Amino acid sequence: MKKEEECIFCNIVAKKVDSAIVFENEEMMAFKDIRAKAPVHLLLVPKKHVVDLNAMTEADEGLLGRMMLQLSTIAKEHGIAESGYKVVNNIGNDGGQIIHHFHFHLLGGAPVQSVV
Ligand code: AMP
Ligand code: ZN
Repeated sequence: MKKEEECIFCNIVAKKVDSAIVFENEEMMAFKDIRAKAPVHLLLVPKKHVVDLNAMTEADEGLLGRMMLQLSTIAKEHGIAESGYKVVNNIGNDGGQIIHHFHFHLLGGAPVQSVV
């Protein structure tokens, strides 16, 4: 079986697995985290399967920039831009990455704890 077929986020992108989608365009999708750690806890993923930041290349510069800007748009739409929010990208074991399909966490709606 191809890796993409086993990947939960690829299956969410393909709408083979249900999720609460809050944004979608041709190259990215945002949906609610199933185990929310904050009143607003969304995940923004590229539609293509990329494991993590290490697997991104120069060809992905535009995608990464558009994803960062989309996070701020989504934060505004969810009413947390003014109160503030945290954007988290976990990479690998020590980064605490569990799902090996690149994603940004967008957390807000209340103070969000962090190690930094
Ligand atoms: P990470 O530790 O950065 O890999 O975080 C993965 C996140 O994906 C966790 O916060 C999980 O709660 C979330 N997650 C796992 N499966 C699903 C799913 N089916 N739908 C939505 N969020 C999920
Ligand atoms: Zn994937």
